[in-house]
Amino acid sequence: MTREVIYGPDDSDRYNRDEPDRSLDRRRTTTEEDLLLRPKRMSEMVGQREVYERVLIAIDAAKKRGEPLGHILFDGPPGLGKTTFATCIPRELGTTLQIANGATLKAPKDIVPYLTNAEEGSVLFIDEIHRMQKAVEEFIYPAMEDFRIDLTLGEGANARTMNMPLKQFTLIGATTRTGLISAPLRDRFQMREHLDFYTPEELSVIVLMNAEKLQMPIDDVAAMEIALRSRGTPRLANNRLRWVRDFADARADGKITPKVALRAMDMQGIDSLGLDPFDRKFLETICRVFSGGPVGVEAVAHTMNIAPDTLIDEVEPFLLRSELLIRTPRGRKVTEKGLEHLGFNPADFDFPQTLF
Ligand code: ADP
Repeated sequence: MTREVIYGPDDSDRYNRDEPDRSLDRRRTTTEEDLLLRPKRMSEMVGQREVYERVLIAIDAAKKRGEPLGHILFDGPPGLGKTTFATCIPRELGTTLQIANGATLKAPKDIVPYLTNAEEGSVLFIDEIHRMQKAVEEFIYPAMEDFRIDLTLGEGANARTMNMPLKQFTLIGATTRTGLISAPLRDRFQMREHLDFYTPEELSVIVLMNAEKLQMPIDDVAAMEIALRSRGTPRLANNRLRWVRDFADARADGKITPKVALRAMDMQGIDSLGLDPFDRKFLETICRVFSGGPVGVEAVAHTMNIAPDTLIDEVEPFLLRSELLIRTPRGRKVTEKGLEHLGFNPADFDFPQTLF
Protein backbone atom coordinates (compact mmCIF):
# COMPACT_ATOMS: atom_id res chain seq x y z
CA MET A 1 0.00 0.00 0.00
CA THR A 2 1.45 3.38 -0.94
CA ARG A 3 1.26 6.50 1.10
CA GLU A 4 -0.54 9.27 -0.74
CA VAL A 5 1.68 12.22 0.08
CA ILE A 6 4.75 12.83 2.12
CA TYR A 7 6.48 16.14 2.20
CA GLY A 8 8.44 18.28 4.56
CA PRO A 9 9.11 21.96 5.09
CA ASP A 10 12.34 21.77 3.09
CA ASP A 11 10.76 20.02 0.18
CA SER A 12 10.82 23.19 -1.87
CA ASP A 13 9.78 21.42 -5.02
CA ARG A 14 6.40 20.55 -3.59
CA TYR A 15 6.03 23.84 -1.79
CA ASN A 16 6.66 25.85 -4.90
CA ARG A 17 5.03 23.71 -7.50
CA ASP A 18 1.76 25.56 -7.16
CA GLU A 19 3.38 28.85 -8.13
CA PRO A 20 2.18 29.86 -11.59
CA ASP A 21 4.64 28.77 -14.25
CA ARG A 22 4.87 31.95 -16.24
CA SER A 23 7.58 30.71 -18.60
CA LEU A 24 5.11 28.30 -20.17
CA ASP A 25 2.22 30.71 -19.90
CA ARG A 26 -0.29 27.90 -19.96
CA ARG A 27 -3.62 27.59 -18.23
CA ARG A 28 -3.23 25.79 -14.90
CA THR A 29 -5.14 22.59 -14.35
CA THR A 30 -7.89 22.52 -11.75
CA THR A 31 -5.65 20.58 -9.35
CA GLU A 32 -2.86 23.09 -9.75
CA GLU A 33 -5.31 25.88 -9.09
CA ASP A 34 -6.65 24.09 -6.01
CA LEU A 35 -3.09 24.00 -4.67
CA LEU A 36 -2.56 27.64 -5.54
CA LEU A 37 -5.73 28.69 -3.71
CA ARG A 38 -5.20 26.59 -0.58
CA PRO A 39 -3.61 28.66 2.19
CA LYS A 40 -0.03 27.53 2.82
CA ARG A 41 0.43 29.08 6.23
CA MET A 42 -2.02 29.52 9.07
CA SER A 43 -1.62 33.30 8.77
CA GLU A 44 -3.27 33.07 5.32
CA MET A 45 -6.34 31.33 6.73
CA VAL A 46 -9.50 33.39 6.99
CA GLY A 47 -12.33 32.84 9.52
CA GLN A 48 -12.70 30.02 12.10
CA ARG A 49 -11.07 32.44 14.55
CA GLU A 50 -11.74 30.55 17.77
CA VAL A 51 -10.52 27.23 16.42
CA TYR A 52 -7.56 29.01 14.83
CA GLU A 53 -6.53 30.65 18.11
CA ARG A 54 -6.76 27.40 20.07
CA VAL A 55 -4.73 25.53 17.47
CA LEU A 56 -2.07 28.28 17.46
CA ILE A 57 -1.82 28.14 21.27
CA ALA A 58 -1.38 24.37 21.17
CA ILE A 59 1.32 24.72 18.47
CA ASP A 60 3.17 27.42 20.43
CA ALA A 61 3.05 25.39 23.62
CA ALA A 62 4.27 22.23 21.87
CA LYS A 63 7.14 24.15 20.26
CA LYS A 64 8.13 25.78 23.58
CA ARG A 65 8.16 22.48 25.41
CA GLY A 66 9.84 20.70 22.52
CA GLU A 67 7.12 18.06 22.61
CA PRO A 68 4.91 16.74 19.82
CA LEU A 69 1.57 18.45 19.38
CA GLY A 70 -1.37 16.55 20.90
CA HIS A 71 -3.70 14.68 18.54
CA ILE A 72 -6.43 16.85 16.98
CA LEU A 73 -9.81 15.85 15.52
CA PHE A 74 -11.54 18.27 13.14
CA ASP A 75 -15.15 17.80 12.23
CA GLY A 76 -17.58 19.71 10.05
CA PRO A 77 -19.18 19.72 6.59
CA PRO A 78 -16.95 19.31 3.51
CA GLY A 79 -15.00 22.27 2.15
CA LEU A 80 -14.66 24.21 5.40
CA GLY A 81 -10.92 23.84 5.92
CA LYS A 82 -10.19 20.57 7.72
CA THR A 83 -7.50 19.57 5.22
CA THR A 84 -6.24 23.14 5.12
CA PHE A 85 -5.66 23.09 8.89
CA ALA A 86 -4.04 19.67 8.60
CA THR A 87 -1.61 20.87 5.93
CA CYS A 88 -0.82 24.23 7.56
CA ILE A 89 -0.16 22.82 11.06
CA PRO A 90 2.96 20.80 10.09
CA ARG A 91 4.37 23.85 8.33
CA GLU A 92 3.96 25.89 11.52
CA LEU A 93 5.66 23.09 13.43
CA GLY A 94 8.40 22.80 10.80
CA THR A 95 7.75 19.09 10.41
CA THR A 96 6.70 16.53 7.83
CA LEU A 97 3.20 15.41 6.91
CA GLN A 98 1.77 12.10 5.74
CA ILE A 99 -1.78 11.92 4.41
CA ALA A 100 -3.99 8.85 4.58
CA ASN A 101 -7.69 8.31 3.98
CA GLY A 102 -9.86 6.33 6.37
CA ALA A 103 -11.66 4.67 3.45
CA THR A 104 -8.47 2.90 2.36
CA LEU A 105 -7.50 1.73 5.86
CA LYS A 106 -9.21 -1.64 5.86
CA ALA A 107 -6.80 -3.68 7.98
CA PRO A 108 -4.02 -2.89 10.49
CA LYS A 109 -1.40 -3.66 7.84
CA ASP A 110 -2.67 -0.68 5.81
CA ILE A 111 -1.75 1.79 8.53
CA VAL A 112 1.54 0.19 9.65
CA PRO A 113 3.72 1.94 6.98
CA TYR A 114 2.40 5.34 8.00
CA LEU A 115 3.08 4.67 11.68
CA THR A 116 6.53 3.21 11.22
CA ASN A 117 7.53 5.99 8.80
CA ALA A 118 6.31 8.78 11.08
CA GLU A 119 9.28 10.90 12.15
CA GLU A 120 9.66 12.35 15.62
CA GLY A 121 7.16 15.21 16.00
CA SER A 122 5.69 14.71 12.50
CA VAL A 123 2.02 14.81 11.56
CA LEU A 124 -0.10 11.96 10.23
CA PHE A 125 -3.38 13.23 8.78
CA ILE A 126 -6.23 10.74 8.36
CA ASP A 127 -9.05 12.23 6.31
CA GLU A 128 -12.52 10.65 6.58
CA ILE A 129 -11.34 8.95 9.74
CA HIS A 130 -14.87 7.67 10.43
CA ARG A 131 -14.48 5.31 7.45
CA MET A 132 -11.53 3.47 9.00
CA GLN A 133 -12.32 -0.17 9.83
CA LYS A 134 -12.84 -1.07 13.49
CA ALA A 135 -9.76 -3.34 13.51
CA VAL A 136 -7.57 -0.43 12.35
CA GLU A 137 -9.13 1.87 14.92
CA GLU A 138 -8.34 -0.52 17.76
CA PHE A 139 -4.86 -1.09 16.37
CA ILE A 140 -4.01 2.62 16.57
CA TYR A 141 -5.15 3.13 20.18
CA PRO A 142 -1.74 2.17 21.65
CA ALA A 143 -0.03 4.12 18.84
CA MET A 144 -1.96 7.25 19.85
CA GLU A 145 -1.53 6.76 23.58
CA ASP A 146 1.87 5.22 24.12
CA PHE A 147 3.48 5.44 20.67
CA ARG A 148 3.80 1.70 20.23
CA ILE A 149 2.06 -0.97 18.19
CA ASP A 150 1.60 -4.69 18.61
CA LEU A 151 2.61 -6.44 15.41
CA THR A 152 1.63 -10.06 14.81
CA LEU A 153 4.33 -11.96 12.95
CA GLY A 154 3.79 -15.33 11.30
CA GLU A 155 0.56 -17.28 11.14
CA GLY A 156 -1.28 -19.99 13.03
CA ALA A 157 0.70 -21.83 15.71
CA ASN A 158 3.89 -19.93 14.82
CA ALA A 159 2.30 -16.51 15.21
CA ARG A 160 3.86 -14.27 17.81
CA THR A 161 3.27 -10.70 18.82
CA MET A 162 6.00 -8.13 18.77
CA ASN A 163 5.71 -4.84 20.58
CA MET A 164 7.21 -2.13 18.44
CA PRO A 165 7.99 1.39 19.65
CA LEU A 166 7.14 4.33 17.36
CA LYS A 167 8.44 7.88 17.12
CA GLN A 168 6.21 10.39 18.87
CA PHE A 169 3.90 11.80 16.21
CA THR A 170 0.71 13.84 16.01
CA LEU A 171 -2.44 12.36 14.57
CA ILE A 172 -4.84 14.78 12.93
CA GLY A 173 -8.20 13.26 12.07
CA ALA A 174 -10.91 14.82 9.92
CA THR A 175 -14.51 13.74 9.67
CA THR A 176 -17.76 15.05 8.30
CA ARG A 177 -19.56 13.07 11.01
CA THR A 178 -18.45 13.06 14.63
CA GLY A 179 -21.49 10.94 15.40
CA LEU A 180 -19.81 8.02 13.63
CA ILE A 181 -16.61 8.21 15.68
CA SER A 182 -16.58 5.83 18.62
CA ALA A 183 -16.14 7.33 22.09
CA PRO A 184 -12.80 5.52 22.73
CA LEU A 185 -11.32 6.99 19.53
CA ARG A 186 -12.76 10.46 20.15
CA ASP A 187 -11.39 10.50 23.69
CA ARG A 188 -7.87 9.81 22.48
CA PHE A 189 -7.76 13.19 20.71
CA GLN A 190 -6.52 15.93 23.04
CA MET A 191 -8.33 18.56 20.98
CA ARG A 192 -11.64 18.21 19.19
CA GLU A 193 -12.54 21.13 16.99
CA HIS A 194 -15.73 21.75 15.09
CA LEU A 195 -15.58 23.87 11.93
CA ASP A 196 -18.69 25.87 11.15
CA PHE A 197 -19.92 27.65 8.03
CA TYR A 198 -18.20 30.95 7.15
CA THR A 199 -19.92 34.33 7.19
CA PRO A 200 -20.45 36.12 3.85
CA GLU A 201 -17.89 38.73 4.96
CA GLU A 202 -15.24 36.06 5.58
CA LEU A 203 -16.01 34.41 2.25
CA SER A 204 -15.81 37.75 0.50
CA VAL A 205 -12.27 38.23 1.90
CA ILE A 206 -11.38 34.76 0.56
CA VAL A 207 -12.88 35.55 -2.86
CA LEU A 208 -10.93 38.83 -3.12
CA MET A 209 -7.72 37.17 -1.92
CA ASN A 210 -8.09 34.33 -4.43
CA ALA A 211 -9.08 36.60 -7.30
CA GLU A 212 -5.74 38.32 -6.72
CA LYS A 213 -3.94 34.97 -6.79
CA LEU A 214 -5.67 34.19 -10.09
CA GLN A 215 -4.88 37.70 -11.36
CA MET A 216 -8.50 38.53 -12.00
CA PRO A 217 -9.96 42.01 -12.00
CA ILE A 218 -12.91 41.90 -9.63
CA ASP A 219 -15.27 44.41 -8.13
CA ASP A 220 -15.84 44.31 -4.30
CA VAL A 221 -19.60 44.03 -4.75
CA ALA A 222 -19.14 41.16 -7.21
CA ALA A 223 -16.94 39.40 -4.63
CA MET A 224 -19.70 39.77 -2.05
CA GLU A 225 -22.30 38.37 -4.50
CA ILE A 226 -20.11 35.30 -5.01
CA ALA A 227 -19.60 35.00 -1.23
CA LEU A 228 -23.36 35.20 -0.60
CA ARG A 229 -24.00 32.38 -3.03
CA SER A 230 -21.33 30.03 -1.73
CA ARG A 231 -23.34 28.06 0.83
CA GLY A 232 -20.99 29.18 3.61
CA THR A 233 -17.98 27.23 2.32
CA PRO A 234 -14.62 28.43 0.99
CA ARG A 235 -14.48 25.49 -1.43
CA LEU A 236 -17.69 26.56 -3.15
CA ALA A 237 -16.59 30.21 -3.03
CA ASN A 238 -13.48 29.14 -4.97
CA ASN A 239 -15.50 27.03 -7.41
CA ARG A 240 -18.01 29.80 -8.03
CA LEU A 241 -15.19 32.32 -8.47
CA ARG A 242 -13.54 30.15 -11.11
CA TRP A 243 -16.79 29.64 -12.97
CA VAL A 244 -17.48 33.39 -12.91
CA ARG A 245 -13.94 33.94 -14.19
CA ASP A 246 -14.55 31.56 -17.10
CA PHE A 247 -17.86 33.22 -17.86
CA ALA A 248 -16.28 36.69 -17.72
CA ASP A 249 -13.46 35.56 -20.03
CA ALA A 250 -15.87 34.06 -22.53
CA ARG A 251 -18.65 36.64 -22.42
CA ALA A 252 -17.50 39.87 -20.81
CA ASP A 253 -13.88 40.82 -21.57
CA GLY A 254 -12.61 39.22 -18.37
CA LYS A 255 -13.85 41.87 -15.95
CA ILE A 256 -15.96 40.63 -13.06
CA THR A 257 -18.70 43.10 -12.27
CA PRO A 258 -21.70 42.29 -10.03
CA LYS A 259 -23.87 41.88 -13.13
CA VAL A 260 -21.43 39.45 -14.75
CA ALA A 261 -21.13 37.47 -11.50
CA LEU A 262 -24.89 37.15 -11.14
CA ARG A 263 -25.40 36.19 -14.78
CA ALA A 264 -22.71 33.51 -14.51
CA MET A 265 -24.22 32.04 -11.37
CA ASP A 266 -27.76 32.18 -12.79
CA MET A 267 -26.51 30.22 -15.76
CA GLN A 268 -25.38 27.41 -13.41
CA GLY A 269 -28.73 27.47 -11.64
CA ILE A 270 -27.24 28.90 -8.41
CA ASP A 271 -30.01 30.83 -6.72
CA SER A 272 -30.11 33.82 -4.36
CA LEU A 273 -29.33 31.63 -1.32
CA GLY A 274 -26.48 29.86 -3.07
CA LEU A 275 -28.44 26.62 -3.58
CA ASP A 276 -27.59 24.70 -6.73
CA PRO A 277 -30.05 22.59 -8.75
CA PHE A 278 -29.19 19.51 -6.70
CA ASP A 279 -29.98 21.20 -3.38
CA ARG A 280 -33.31 22.28 -4.80
CA LYS A 281 -34.02 18.84 -6.21
CA PHE A 282 -33.58 17.40 -2.71
CA LEU A 283 -36.04 19.89 -1.20
CA GLU A 284 -38.44 19.51 -4.14
CA THR A 285 -38.43 15.70 -3.83
CA ILE A 286 -39.48 16.02 -0.19
CA CYS A 287 -42.23 18.46 -1.20
CA ARG A 288 -43.58 16.66 -4.27
CA VAL A 289 -43.15 13.02 -3.32
CA PHE A 290 -43.44 13.17 0.45
CA SER A 291 -45.83 16.13 0.93
CA GLY A 292 -43.08 18.26 2.48
CA GLY A 293 -42.17 15.58 5.07
CA PRO A 294 -41.46 14.44 7.69
CA VAL A 295 -39.67 11.68 5.80
CA GLY A 296 -36.62 9.53 6.49
CA VAL A 297 -33.53 10.63 4.60
CA GLU A 298 -33.05 7.09 3.25
CA ALA A 299 -36.44 7.22 1.54
CA VAL A 300 -35.57 10.52 -0.13
CA ALA A 301 -32.15 9.16 -1.13
CA HIS A 302 -33.77 6.08 -2.73
CA THR A 303 -36.21 8.21 -4.67
CA MET A 304 -33.36 10.42 -5.90
CA ASN A 305 -31.19 7.36 -6.56
CA ILE A 306 -28.30 8.67 -4.51
CA ALA A 307 -26.36 7.46 -1.45
CA PRO A 308 -27.94 8.67 1.82
CA ASP A 309 -24.45 9.62 3.07
CA THR A 310 -24.08 12.18 0.28
CA LEU A 311 -27.31 13.84 1.34
CA ILE A 312 -26.39 13.74 5.02
CA ASP A 313 -22.78 14.91 4.65
CA GLU A 314 -22.86 17.26 1.70
CA VAL A 315 -26.35 18.52 1.03
CA GLU A 316 -28.24 18.71 4.30
CA PRO A 317 -25.93 20.67 6.61
CA PHE A 318 -26.32 23.96 4.78
CA LEU A 319 -30.08 23.50 4.28
CA LEU A 320 -30.48 22.85 8.01
CA ARG A 321 -28.28 25.81 8.84
CA SER A 322 -30.34 28.05 6.52
CA GLU A 323 -33.56 26.85 8.17
CA LEU A 324 -34.96 25.57 4.87
CA LEU A 325 -35.14 22.08 6.34
CA ILE A 326 -35.53 20.71 9.85
CA ARG A 327 -34.87 17.32 11.39
CA THR A 328 -37.74 16.02 13.45
CA PRO A 329 -37.94 12.72 15.36
CA ARG A 330 -40.01 11.41 12.41
CA GLY A 331 -37.62 12.57 9.70
CA ARG A 332 -36.79 15.58 7.53
CA LYS A 333 -39.35 18.30 6.92
CA VAL A 334 -39.16 21.31 4.62
CA THR A 335 -39.86 24.53 6.54
CA GLU A 336 -42.23 27.28 5.54
CA LYS A 337 -39.19 29.32 4.48
CA GLY A 338 -38.04 26.36 2.36
CA LEU A 339 -41.44 26.01 0.67
CA GLU A 340 -41.55 29.71 -0.10
CA HIS A 341 -38.03 29.67 -1.47
CA LEU A 342 -39.02 26.90 -3.89
CA GLY A 343 -42.12 28.81 -4.93
CA PHE A 344 -44.66 26.54 -3.21
CA ASN A 345 -47.57 27.88 -1.22
CA PRO A 346 -47.17 26.75 2.43
CA ALA A 347 -50.98 26.72 2.70
CA ASP A 348 -51.00 23.72 0.32
CA PHE A 349 -48.91 21.75 2.79
CA ASP A 350 -49.62 20.46 6.23
CA PHE A 351 -48.65 23.61 8.12
CA PRO A 352 -50.60 24.84 11.12
CA GLN A 353 -52.44 27.88 9.80
CA THR A 354 -53.22 30.84 12.02
CA LEU A 355 -56.94 31.17 12.66
CA PHE A 356 -57.20 34.93 12.67
P1 ADP B 1 -12.25 20.09 3.99
O1 ADP B 1 -10.99 19.31 4.23
O2 ADP B 1 -12.92 20.54 5.26
O3 ADP B 1 -13.20 19.42 3.04
P2 ADP B 1 -10.48 21.94 2.65
O4 ADP B 1 -9.47 22.24 3.71
O5 ADP B 1 -10.07 21.01 1.56
O6 ADP B 1 -11.85 21.48 3.29
O7 ADP B 1 -10.91 23.36 2.02
C1 ADP B 1 -11.37 23.50 0.69
C2 ADP B 1 -10.73 24.70 0.06
O8 ADP B 1 -11.26 25.87 0.64
C3 ADP B 1 -9.21 24.80 0.28
O9 ADP B 1 -8.50 24.21 -0.74
C4 ADP B 1 -8.96 26.29 0.32
O10 ADP B 1 -8.71 26.79 -0.96
C5 ADP B 1 -10.25 26.85 0.85
N1 ADP B 1 -10.17 27.15 2.29
C6 ADP B 1 -10.53 26.33 3.30
N2 ADP B 1 -10.39 26.94 4.49
C7 ADP B 1 -9.94 28.18 4.22
C8 ADP B 1 -9.61 29.30 5.05
N3 ADP B 1 -9.75 29.25 6.36
N4 ADP B 1 -9.18 30.43 4.44
C9 ADP B 1 -9.07 30.48 3.10
N5 ADP B 1 -9.36 29.47 2.26
C10 ADP B 1 -9.80 28.33 2.82
